[in-house]
Amino acid sequence: MNNTYYSSTRENKEEVESSLAIIKGLSEDGGLFVPNKIPNLACSLTELIEMDYKQVAYEVMKCYFTDFTEDELKSCINNAYNEKFDTEEIAPLKNEDATYFLELFHGPTIAFKDMALSILPYLMKTAAKKQNIKNEIVILTATSGDTGKAALEGFKDIEGTKIIVFYPKGGVSAIQKQQMVTQKGKNTHVIAIEGNFDDAQNGVKQIFGDEEFNKIINNNGCQLSSANSINIGRLIPQVVYYFYAYTRMVKNKDITIGEKINIAVPTGNFGNILAAYYARKMGLPINKLICCSNENKVLFDFFEKGIYDKNREFKLTNSPSMDILISSNLERLLYSIANENGETTSELMSQLKNTGKYELTDEMKNSLNDFYAGYASEQETEIAIKKLYDKSGYLIDTHTAVGYAVYNKYIKDTQDTAKTVIASTASPYKFTKSVMKSIDEKFESTDEFELLKEMNGLSKVDIPKAVKNILNDEIIHKTVCKIDEMKDEVYKILNLK
Ligand SMILES: *Cc1c(COP(=O)(O)O)cnc(C)c1O
Repeated sequence: MNNTYYSSTRENKEEVESSLAIIKGLSEDGGLFVPNKIPNLACSLTELIEMDYKQVAYEVMKCYFTDFTEDELKSCINNAYNEKFDTEEIAPLKNEDATYFLELFHGPTIAFKDMALSILPYLMKTAAKKQNIKNEIVILTATSGDTGKAALEGFKDIEGTKIIVFYPKGGVSAIQKQQMVTQKGKNTHVIAIEGNFDDAQNGVKQIFGDEEFNKIINNNGCQLSSANSINIGRLIPQVVYYFYAYTRMVKNKDITIGEKINIAVPTGNFGNILAAYYARKMGLPINKLICCSNENKVLFDFFEKGIYDKNREFKLTNSPSMDILISSNLERLLYSIANENGETTSELMSQLKNTGKYELTDEMKNSLNDFYAGYASEQETEIAIKKLYDKSGYLIDTHTAVGYAVYNKYIKDTQDTAKTVIASTASPYKFTKSVMKSIDEKFESTDEFELLKEMNGLSKVDIPKAVKNILNDEIIHKTVCKIDEMKDEVYKILNLK
């Protein structure tokens, strides 16, 4: 099989092997790594039908991580998708109200980020060995709630790595906070900052960009790396579950092989839906990719008008993991619809940086036909949760509900009857308050932990282990720092000299 190499979405034409792209995270010119071609599977869809999740994962990932040996890749997959997940199916597909919900929340932190963050640490460790890197890899992450915990769980006690997570002190849900401050593992560090998510994100970016500081870190035998969704080591593992979902539908005789389905994805950073776009390019029979936004509908406007404009009010919604105005992974789509012309992407990205805005050419706009975009307000999201619950007794979280609400608009708009898979990105138990409030206003004032029991009564689904355990766990991480003290904290943790 031909090897797949990675180069930047911008001007740097250098091609690197996947292991180096995983270690680096970003290209030196600030662009994102993209495969030099979208590979084809070595086997047929028919063959995938008989495979389990791990086998499908191997078939998909081996076309992208071509410098990993079979043993290396299989070992990464086995270490990632094991008892950490509460079901052997890893990503079960549920059929409710004539819609297919692909439950991506059965991992240790009950949100879909586990799908990729449970394998990234192993990919990184293997890649470091292949690239002969002796330094300890230090993962530095700012989080608005989900990424931080999933990364902590993923990197916990992984030899040769440390992980430091900064979260906004008042900016995460009660359960998200409890998940992080009780984090176990001898290489994990969690710090609250007196600021919001943007402050945390900026602080982390500054540390990454501080050459002097990075030199000191290197001199102490460490190097920084990132676990956020621009790393191809996070993107590619997400392609897997779209193949998996499709083949389960064939296996259950819900569709015949070759029949086209739609995929609807609640979207923030554009990573999850981009993975579906890659799956489609690899030949998975997908009709429309339905891009679902909340009130921060920068992507909806982009698909409508061909103009990306982040100059707008930032809204805090009941689907907080999608509250985002700069969708980093969109750069990979731009590169693709610009016929892989790095100069074009580079120009658009510099416009975005300087003016907060850019506009596509007509030709690029015409290449967006694979997508349908929609958005749901907070109220529409709540109504979607209640409507589905009343019909079927199935409870979805607020993010998934944005997907479900937009999908219903899509049907109204197009009358399309193709079967549709909605990516269910979080367990309802992760956003208990908002979900229960949608079912009945009276829960507005109930304590978040008390609500777990109430939800349990309604949903017929057990309280996930991940939530149960943390309720009584010891609080380990108590450090709080000011925004301008983040660097000092890294100094202390790494014991730098
Ligand atoms: C991160 C996240 C999303 C958005 O996914 P992107 O890949 O950033 O588009 C949606 N829902 C939940 C629950 C998330 O944690």
